[in-house]
Amino acid sequence: MIAARGLGPGATIGVLGGGQLGRMMAVVARQMGYRIIVLDPSPRCPTAQVSDGVVVGALDDVEAAKHLAGQVDVITLDTEHVPADVLRVVEAIAPVRPNAAVLRTIQDRLVQKQFLDRIGLPQAAWAPADDVHAALAKVGRPAILKVRRAGYDGKGQVRIAPSDDPEVLLGRLRGEPAVAEEVVAFTREISVILARGLDGQIQIYPVAENVHRNHILHTTRAPAPMPDARRRQAEAMAVSVAEALEHVGVMAVEMFELADGRLLVNEIAPRTHNSGHYTYGASATSQFEQHIRAVCGVPLGDPRLLTGAVMVNLIGDLWGAGNAGSPGEQGGQAGQGTQRAQRALVPPAWGEILARPEARLHLYGKDAPTPGRKMGHVLLLDDDTERALVTAESLIATLRSRS
Ligand code: ADP
Ligand code: MG
Repeated sequence: MIAARGLGPGATIGVLGGGQLGRMMAVVARQMGYRIIVLDPSPRCPTAQVSDGVVVGALDDVEAAKHLAGQVDVITLDTEHVPADVLRVVEAIAPVRPNAAVLRTIQDRLVQKQFLDRIGLPQAAWAPADDVHAALAKVGRPAILKVRRAGYDGKGQVRIAPSDDPEVLLGRLRGEPAVAEEVVAFTREISVILARGLDGQIQIYPVAENVHRNHILHTTRAPAPMPDARRRQAEAMAVSVAEALEHVGVMAVEMFELADGRLLVNEIAPRTHNSGHYTYGASATSQFEQHIRAVCGVPLGDPRLLTGAVMVNLIGDLWGAGNAGSPGEQGGQAGQGTQRAQRALVPPAWGEILARPEARLHLYGKDAPTPGRKMGHVLLLDDDTERALVTAESLIATLRSRS
């Protein structure tokens, strides 16, 4: 075991990738007195807006990554999709947490599934889709094809109905290597978020209950109402993943819950996770602070929930054209095409959300609200999570009714 020589406040943390996870991590890291430098292709990415420095470069740009590594004490990630060659090079310059071995296991769905089989955790029937007919013979129909690498928010996934021609659907994945999975008739989805420190200490957050729409997370509520024995089982499954990987940092394990109470692992994210956003506002220590603590090798914080919570994602679709009210206010005399682009940039009216004392609005500073893109979220702090779920839908409806 590594002797935990912690990096205290004042140290500089490098983040590979500048999305919203990096942004929230940077906000809390700076609050604690750490410095943050981010690598991203855009100098205006969500993380760069709140960081001490930015190295502009693609995530597969080895020279840019080396430049970042030379300026920091430890490196962590906003996304697991950083190429292995880049990780190999930077980990010779500064420690990378989680390390390249963890990322190699997770970033390829096929390797991740083999790992889960090896440690004996239950998952949906699956098969490599190189021979799609053989794969479907194994997993049955309907099935889902998922690209092995770089999928997120349901991107890189197609569903195969019993009457579909699988070759045609495979073609939609543009020849990317894929895996096939049986479609699971789950009763609900849950996730377990935990942090594992450099010394192996583990802290677990309350189990979250997640609803997806179009394969994108829509709402999370915490704590998920569930019998104690099942909750302990979910936690034990997540702990066995973190320990087998010797992971360092926050990790999320997404699971399907079946009618008979069984749990199947859906996927592992070796990082902070959308279904843990509720911790930032509802927990004594947010998942972002916890991740910083873990990768810096200082003691983990208290994961206790201070109040029940519901999180609802704000997707780019809410920035629909009609939200602009009068385009003239925004676009002046611009031509039609330009007007449309400018109208799409007009945010929803936040009045109802801002007026509710239990609501917290988070926006990620993204300037292109394209459909399906995560732009922000709203957190509702309420011990009555049933009521908060209803409130979440009605608040989203107030945003839609103006579009
Ligand atoms: P992503 O990386 O996009 O999060 P997931 O594999 O988690 O990919 O899929 C996104 C969502 O799609 C899941 O949370 C679930 O709602 C649905 N889904 C994925 N795989 C299956 C499956 N085998 N059976 C039923 N639903 C699935
Ligand atoms: Mg997922």
